[in-house]
Amino acid sequence: METPDPERLIVFDTTLRDGEQSPGISLNVAQKLEIARALEALGVDVIEAGFPAASPGDLQAVSAVASAVAGPAVCALARCHEGDIRAAEQALRTAARPRMHVFIATSPIHRRHKLKLTAAQVLQRARQGIRLALEACPDVQFSAEDATRTEPGFLAEVVTMAVESGVRTVNIPDTVGYTTPVEYAQTIESVCRALRSQPHAVISVHCHDDLGMAVANSLAGVAAGARQVECTINGIGERAGNAALEEIVMAVRTRHDRWPLRTGIESRRLTGISGLVSRHTGFTVPPNKAIVGANAFAHESGIHQHGVLGDTRTYEIIRAEEVGASTSLVLGKHSGRHAFENWLHGRGVTLQPRALESAFQVFKAEADRAGPVDDRRILAIARAAQAAGEWRVLDVRSVGAGKACRIELELQSRDGRVHRGCGAGTLPEAVAAAVSGASGVEIGLLTCAHELQSIGDGTQASARVEVRIVDTVRSGVAVAPSEAEALVHAIVDMLPAPSGRLEVTS
Ligand SMILES: [Zn+2]
Repeated sequence: METPDPERLIVFDTTLRDGEQSPGISLNVAQKLEIARALEALGVDVIEAGFPAASPGDLQAVSAVASAVAGPAVCALARCHEGDIRAAEQALRTAARPRMHVFIATSPIHRRHKLKLTAAQVLQRARQGIRLALEACPDVQFSAEDATRTEPGFLAEVVTMAVESGVRTVNIPDTVGYTTPVEYAQTIESVCRALRSQPHAVISVHCHDDLGMAVANSLAGVAAGARQVECTINGIGERAGNAALEEIVMAVRTRHDRWPLRTGIESRRLTGISGLVSRHTGFTVPPNKAIVGANAFAHESGIHQHGVLGDTRTYEIIRAEEVGASTSLVLGKHSGRHAFENWLHGRGVTLQPRALESAFQVFKAEADRAGPVDDRRILAIARAAQAAGEWRVLDVRSVGAGKACRIELELQSRDGRVHRGCGAGTLPEAVAAAVSGASGVEIGLLTCAHELQSIGDGTQASARVEVRIVDTVRSGVAVAPSEAEALVHAIVDMLPAPSGRLEVTS
């Protein structure tokens, strides 16, 4: 058998198996398929797709993933029972690279209270399970469940038997999240010693986060010689979860001096897949989560913002782009024009002074009212200001109230021509009709909110609209002295340039 590359760390993702076993998570087949395809694109080596014996739905999902995925090995979990192994075999039938993962608990507490078997009986059952699995699938992985609470001598005996029987990968799970980095490194070293004469065997780590050490333990195991790491996106999994894939991968990448290993992971996809898994599982990612949290590359304090504007390395050890995120200087009501302009620059948006001022005023009004403004919203404000300029609002006259408003306005197109329009109805309806009449652009009003607000000593109006302009839905915001003017600006700023065949109405 081939000896594995000692510098390659195999990434075994179990989001769809251990992750899906989290209380409160239940993924349907379509969601599992979407995640499996994203894991394939991410570059994981193995996708553990489920536990086929658990339910017909699980079997169906593993089978669907097996058919859909070609790059990574697709793995199915089975106890050392014939029924489980047959179910896994059936589920993996269409896999390009099937892997069967059999396990049995080896710790005294599990032997006594769960399996009610002696150590010798456990060894015997493991041997039978492995033999059956190997008949069904050439690539077999064996796990000694609760390995970290198993007597080291017995653990060595079981894994040696497994590898001598033909198993390619032996997993040493910290099933209950009990071990510590130093202790786990010793466990893995002792397994390595037991398998010294079997250089083709890959030792795998699988850690749970009950004491918050899943990633640290996994990495300690890797430093001690393990070359497969089992993990999940966002660290989801039973109880407190598993080791987070994104943290392991970025630790190895960022601290290559400590772990001189390569993975096949395309790290730029980490933020995207984290969002996908979060949406499908309903488990939101905390803002302070390492690597993929919304604040992982965010800086709000002035000193940090200043440092990061000079060089991101002052306060960041990973470039945000490496994980598909972007550094964000969180802009709040205390941020100045300079920080605002810099923030936009960083995203490739350059505004003319007038548009910049108008975007900055809209942003300040929102930040004052609602606290931090999220990135997407700031970009929308900037885009709206950028679009402004095709048309200039010369005059807005508004009379009436409620459902009987009337608006008359004058717009000037860039070529200097003046266009007049009028409209009636509620204030937004009247504005949309008047803008449409003046510009000749078809405008469908979808949603609209406008209000007068106190800003500093005075008042100003803000408007937020969503409109369909020809075939595109756009949203705009504006602040102005009156609600009618704010609405006019919110819409006019999104208008395209006048077309050649524009009929001027007046
Ligand atoms: Zn687990």
